[in-house]
Amino acid sequence: MTETPPRPERYYQVALPVPLPSAFEYRSNEALQTGQRVRVSFAGRFLIGIVISAAASPRTSGHTLKAINQVFENEPLLPAPVFELCQWAAQYYLHPLGEVFAAALPKKIRSGDDIKTKTFQLVASPNSPERRIDSSLSRSPKQRALMLRLAQGEGFNREKLKREKYSKAVVVGLLQRGFAHWQTETPPADTYPQHVRSDTVLSATDPQSDAISAVSFKGHQTYLLYGVTGSGKTEVYLQLIEKVLEAGKQALVLIPEISLTPQTIERFRDRFEAPVVTLHSELTDRERANHWRDARSGRARIIIGTRSAIFTPTPDLGLIVVDEEHDNSYKQQDGFHYSARDLATVRGLIEKIPVVLGSATPSLESLQNVEAGKYHLLELPERANGAQKEQYTLFPVPQGQTNAFPDPALLEIIKQVLDKGEQVLVMRNRRGFAPVLYCTHCQWIAQCAQCDARLTMHKARNHLQCHHCGEQQSIPSQCPSCSQLSLIPLGEGTQRLESMLNQQFPDYPVIRIDSDSTQQRSALESMLNRVNAGGPCILVGTQLLAKGHHFTGITLALVLDVDQGFFSSDYRAIERTAQLIIQTGGRSGREALPGAVYLSTTLQDLPELQALIQSDYLTFAQNLLQQRKHHKLPPYASHATVKADARQPETAYRFLAGIAQQARASHGCEILGPVRPGMEKRAGWYRAQLLVTSQSRPSRARTLIRIEKLLRENKNRSLRWSIDVDPSDLV
Ligand code: ADP
Ligand code: ZN
Ligand code: ZN
Repeated sequence: MTETPPRPERYYQVALPVPLPSAFEYRSNEALQTGQRVRVSFAGRFLIGIVISAAASPRTSGHTLKAINQVFENEPLLPAPVFELCQWAAQYYLHPLGEVFAAALPKKIRSGDDIKTKTFQLVASPNSPERRIDSSLSRSPKQRALMLRLAQGEGFNREKLKREKYSKAVVVGLLQRGFAHWQTETPPADTYPQHVRSDTVLSATDPQSDAISAVSFKGHQTYLLYGVTGSGKTEVYLQLIEKVLEAGKQALVLIPEISLTPQTIERFRDRFEAPVVTLHSELTDRERANHWRDARSGRARIIIGTRSAIFTPTPDLGLIVVDEEHDNSYKQQDGFHYSARDLATVRGLIEKIPVVLGSATPSLESLQNVEAGKYHLLELPERANGAQKEQYTLFPVPQGQTNAFPDPALLEIIKQVLDKGEQVLVMRNRRGFAPVLYCTHCQWIAQCAQCDARLTMHKARNHLQCHHCGEQQSIPSQCPSCSQLSLIPLGEGTQRLESMLNQQFPDYPVIRIDSDSTQQRSALESMLNRVNAGGPCILVGTQLLAKGHHFTGITLALVLDVDQGFFSSDYRAIERTAQLIIQTGGRSGREALPGAVYLSTTLQDLPELQALIQSDYLTFAQNLLQQRKHHKLPPYASHATVKADARQPETAYRFLAGIAQQARASHGCEILGPVRPGMEKRAGWYRAQLLVTSQSRPSRARTLIRIEKLLRENKNRSLRWSIDVDPSDLV
C-alpha cells in the first residue's frame, strides 16, 4: 500500500499590524506566495497579515512555530509594485511594515472582506410588458424612460445610472412597483468603455500642447508642471489621461483633501466614458472597499483620491498625477508619517511610468529636483482662457497696528467693487471669532489647561475652544482671576470679520468658508455654487479659500495675514506664506474681468515680499532656494525629527537627552537637541524633540536606524515616541 507523502512544511514571515518592526514566523503545508493575505494567531488573538517571504527551513529555532490558520485568496493581495512601494516606505520612514500595509488597505479588506467586486445590475422584472409600463408610469416620465430601456434588455449598473443621471428616487420607484430588480452582474468583459467625450475637449493652448507632448510614456520620469493659477493644468491632466486610456492603462490622480469636491470629479466624469472612482475619507467603509476592488480588478480606469490613494492597487497603471503638489495635506502628520507626493515619484519609478506634479506654487523640494536635473520642468506661463494675470498691491498697515481691518480706505475699495456688481474675497487664516479673550483689568488671558496655547473665542456656539486639543468651555461672564466685568475679545478671526463685513455692507451677502462652516462637504459645495451663480458678494475665510477653486466672478482678493509668516521661527513659513498669497491671489480675475489683489502688511519694504509681487513665484522661490543652500537647510540637507511626549514634565526631554548621548551620529550627520517645542504641552502631553540633520540620506538613515533601536530598548510605559523623516514642520 502506498501512502501519499505529506506535503513538506514551509515557513513564512508574516507582517502583522502591530507596532513592532519585525515580521513573525509561521508554518504551513500550503505553498504560499509573497503578498498573500493570511490569518494567524498572535498574542492570544487572531490577526490578518501579509506573507513577506517563504523558506524551506525555519528561521527561528528552539520553540514550536504556530501554523497559519487561514489563507484568504490564492493570489497576492497587492500587485507587486504596490507591495514594493510599501516595503520601500516602511524602510524609508522607519515604520513597521505590517502597519504600512494596514495604512494602505481599506478597513474592510484589512479585516478580511472578499477582494472580488460584487456588482449589481438593474434589470427588468419578467412581468413588465410595455403596455403596463405606458399606463402605470405615464405620470413619471423619468421612470418610464428608464423602464422602457430596461424592457429592451438594456442593463444598468450604478455607474451607468449615475452617468445617465437617473436619480435614486427613480430607481427606487421602479423597484417598489416591482418593475425592476437588482441582479448580480456578469463579470465585466475584458474591454472597458473608455471613450472621450469629444465635445468637452478644449483645444489646447500652445503651452498646454507643449507640456502634453513633452510627457513621455516610455519609462519613468517625474515632471513638474508649473502653471500659473488659471493656466489650465487640469486640461493638461485630462489630455494626458486620454492618452493613458487609449493605451489601455489606468490613471491615478492625487488631490488635496479639500479640493475633492464633486465639481472636481465631475470634470473627469464629464470628459471620459470610462469608470472613475474616488478614494477619500468621506466614503463609507463599504464604498471605500468597493472602489478599491474596482481599482484592483482594473474595472476602474481613473482613480481620484487623497493622500492614502497612493497605495491603490492597479493592474496596469500608466500615469500618476499629483495636483497642487505643494499642499501640506500630502504629508501624513501622525502615526505613519509619509509624504504621498514623494511616494508618487517612488511608485512611478517602480512602475516605470511618468509622474506629473502640478502647482502654481511648487514646493522648494520639487524645484530643487528640477535644478538637480531629476525632474523635468513644464511651464504654463499664462492663463488659458485669455484672462489677464492678477495685479498685486501692498496695502500699508500703520506700525503698531496688527491688522488692517476695518481700515476705511480698504472698506472703500471693497465698496467700489461690490457696487460694480463684482465679488470680493477676504482671506484671514484664523478661524473663530477672536484668537484671544483678555481681561483689561488684570491682563488675564484665557488659556487651555491641556496645552500651552490660548483659547479661541467662538461666538456662534458661544464658547472658548482650543484649536490644538479641541477642549471647549463656556465664555466666562466675569474675569476668572479678578472677577471684574472686563473681558474683551482681541484680534479677529473669520467669524468676527464676517460680522464686521455684514455691518459694513448690509446690502450684500457675506459668505464664510472655514472648517467650522464646511464640516460637511456638501456645505462647501453649495457655498461655492452660490458664489459662482454670480452677483456681488463677499467671501470671507481661511486658507480653504485658496485651494484650487475656480471662481468666476471674483475681481478683488484681500489677504490679511501676510506679516506673520515672515517672522516665524520655522524656516518654511516664508515659503508657505508666499504660496498662500499667490494661491489666494490666483482666485481673482479668472475670467473676463481683470483681478486685483491687496496684501495688508507692515512690511512694504521687505525685499522678499517685493520680489514675490514684482517678479513671479518661480523667481521668488529660486531666491529662497539660494538662501536654503547657503544655510544648509532642506532641500539641501536631509532632516528627520525624533519626537517623544509624556504625561509628566521632563520625562520626554530626559529620555531624548539620553538617546542623543548614546546614539553616535554617522559620519556627516548631526543629532541636535533635545529641544522643547514652542508649545511644549499639548493635549496634556509634554513634548520634546531631537533633530537629525545630514548632507546625505544614507548617513541619515544609518543614524536613524541606531536611534530607532535605542528608542525601542529604552522605551518605558510612561512615554510615546515617533520618528518623522522629512518633517514638514520643525516644531
Ligand atoms: P488651473 O488648475 O491651472 O488653475 P484650470 O484648469 O482651473 O486652471 O483652468 C482655468 C480656466 O481656464 C477654466 O475655466 C478652464 O476651463 C479654462 N481653460 C483651460 N484650458 C483652456 C483652453 N485650452 N482653452 C480655453 N479655456 C481653457
Ligand atoms: Zn481680570
Ligand atoms: Zn488645548
